[in-house]
Amino acid sequence: ARKFFVGGNFKMNGTKESIKSIVKGLNEAQLDSNVEVVIAPPALYLQLAQSELKKPNVQVSAQNVYDKPNGAYTGEISVAQLKDADIHWTILGHSERRTLLGETDELVASKTKFAIDGGVSVIWCCGESLEEREAGNTITVIERQLAALAAKVSGSDWDKIVVAYEPIWAIGTGKVATVQQAQEVHEAMRKWLRANVSEAVADQTRILYGGSVSGKNCKDLAKEKDIDGFLVGGASLKPEFADIINSNL
Ligand code: 13P
Repeated sequence: ARKFFVGGNFKMNGTKESIKSIVKGLNEAQLDSNVEVVIAPPALYLQLAQSELKKPNVQVSAQNVYDKPNGAYTGEISVAQLKDADIHWTILGHSERRTLLGETDELVASKTKFAIDGGVSVIWCCGESLEEREAGNTITVIERQLAALAAKVSGSDWDKIVVAYEPIWAIGTGKVATVQQAQEVHEAMRKWLRANVSEAVADQTRILYGGSVSGKNCKDLAKEKDIDGFLVGGASLKPEFADIINSNL
């Protein structure tokens, strides 16, 4: 069985004060111990979050990392630096980085491989735009993104990848995908992994849904057989994040 996974992507939000208060809330909350939880504050606050956290099943994640060991890459953070700070996760390929910062499928795949080789696990994101969905290209787009990833990673690399399906039109819009829309894409992704990677990877890889997940809609989504958790933006900054973690209770 795949362990349920809930990530909180704080994006470019928070202050020392608010991040301490979010972590305090998590420390004090009753959280389902069968759920793997990861919170991703801005890089500046990774160590603060890490030092404030008292829950063993909550880990801290970066939101991005670069695919070079060190050197003249102004503004970037390396995998080795994450490890040095005791951070074992990073998000990669978020649609905001793909669209606003021009990250290509290939760069995202390359960064994913580099992170894994350096011992950092990856929440790898994909998803279609509204135009792509309306043109009937959702599955084609997701398969293209997956194919770029599968071209760079292999075998046991997949043990260190959690996949997040985040339809761009559902992110920050309050317009969550319907349970059917999400399940349909998750199922197609698993089928693609089965056909193009392996039976084991298809069976074992967690596929998260992200895009306007809330304390209200999480329970229905969590019931679907191919939805193994969530990547939460806005609601991860609020107390309802605990309700999302506890979707299966
Ligand atoms: P929202 O939950 O704010 O829609 O954001 C989703 C997301 O982008 C998580 O990575």
